[in-house]
Amino acid sequence: MEIIADGDASETLKPLVFRLHENAPAIIREVLLERGWTEFDQKEQDDTDWNLYWRNSPFPMTDHHSIKPWQRLNHYPEAVRITRKDYLARHLKRMKGAYGSTLYEFSPVAFIMPNDYVKFIAEYSRERQSVGRPSYWICKPVHLSRGRGILIFQDIKDLVYHCTVIVQKYISNPLLISGYKLDLRLYVCVTSFCPLTIYAYEEGLVRFATEKFDLSSLDNVYAHLTNTSINKYGASYKTYKEGIGCGCKWTFSKFRSYLRIFGVDDMLLWQKMNNIVILTLLAVTPLPEASNCFELFGFDILIDDKFKPWLLEVNYNPALCLDCSIDDTVKRKLLHDIVELLNYKQVDTHRQNEMPGSKAVRRQVSWRRTGQSTPEEAPGLLSGRKVSTCISASQTPPALQFARGSVKKVSALTRKTARAHPRKTLTSELREKMKHAKSILPSQN
Ligand code: ADP
Repeated sequence: MEIIADGDASETLKPLVFRLHENAPAIIREVLLERGWTEFDQKEQDDTDWNLYWRNSPFPMTDHHSIKPWQRLNHYPEAVRITRKDYLARHLKRMKGAYGSTLYEFSPVAFIMPNDYVKFIAEYSRERQSVGRPSYWICKPVHLSRGRGILIFQDIKDLVYHCTVIVQKYISNPLLISGYKLDLRLYVCVTSFCPLTIYAYEEGLVRFATEKFDLSSLDNVYAHLTNTSINKYGASYKTYKEGIGCGCKWTFSKFRSYLRIFGVDDMLLWQKMNNIVILTLLAVTPLPEASNCFELFGFDILIDDKFKPWLLEVNYNPALCLDCSIDDTVKRKLLHDIVELLNYKQVDTHRQNEMPGSKAVRRQVSWRRTGQSTPEEAPGLLSGRKVSTCISASQTPPALQFARGSVKKVSALTRKTARAHPRKTLTSELREKMKHAKSILPSQN
């Protein structure tokens, strides 16, 4: 379908333009091309002639300062405050101190080494005396990801590290399906930190270990770590595993159906996970003010055998590679929904009018309208629709509850909360409300 400008039928409108930094995942390009966008061409186009810039690393502050009204960046300044393991541990510890460990007991006790060495020894000895046998611990380098450099131990003599690490209580009673450990990758998109506006994606990935869980073999990464980057090299990855199937992934939908068969309240579990998301993001709010950006986080959550969810870590740039068909289904749809959430208008008159002198002579472009586009929605607003659930910590009475499901409610909330220039409000008010939150939140146990 070709879009023709209202005023001048001879003018061909500019399609929306995406800009990818080196190493940006290929699926971003695919999804945006599927939606009729075109890729930014540095040689042909003016430096500001794009609508969405996606990169894997933080943007320089100059990019935030020079942002134009028609543009979006896929990172907030300093989002790394929540995604580096030691920073997250520090923030959560501070929140535990300020608001009580009951509210923040969803994160396993953690020590940053070598700084917390003495405290760790004290805890290790105390547990050993009170429980009678040592607990299990997991040691993770703070700079690494994808399961690299991880060590699980019971006896302190096995603890060895050569860089800054966190030593975290190992959840030794995970929920198992047919004997296999699993964790959940929950996708969370923050469209504003001030006011805090969070969307939790209802679909997600369940990631399995590919060998049966066994506490007598702590060094078997295929039994204890659920990272796909590790398990896809396991001997059992491709084989059919009873109760799990081939590969190492399920969708949330499949997992939730599985839970319902066994009479587990999956909705309650979902609510608890959403609470974890809100409380974690509150721990790093406010971030420095920045407009026209959003952040996609990957929350890794482990469920124990009592159906208590535990936050393991928060990922910056959650992996968007496609290792299997389940990845394709979940991640492709996720990205389409994120673009929907950003609510670009189909006709980008803003950029068109503000940039008369672009370098390139406009090419005649046929702009394909996918079934997903929403030209009728309010211009310039971020709008949450259908699939995403908007969690607006500031708007829903009582505080820290969730707006669930309803399209109407989500849209109304979003119109209220998402502004081009967010108000400075909220966090102090939220913190006040959090003092009373214990009575509001469902128990994490
Ligand atoms: P990375 O960034 O290297 O992936 P994670 O913190 O996500 O580090 O840990 C990798 C994997 O190790 C997780 O997916 C999970 O299977 C396991 N794991 C991590 N922390 C714990 C813990 N405290 N208890 C039990 N398992 C854990």
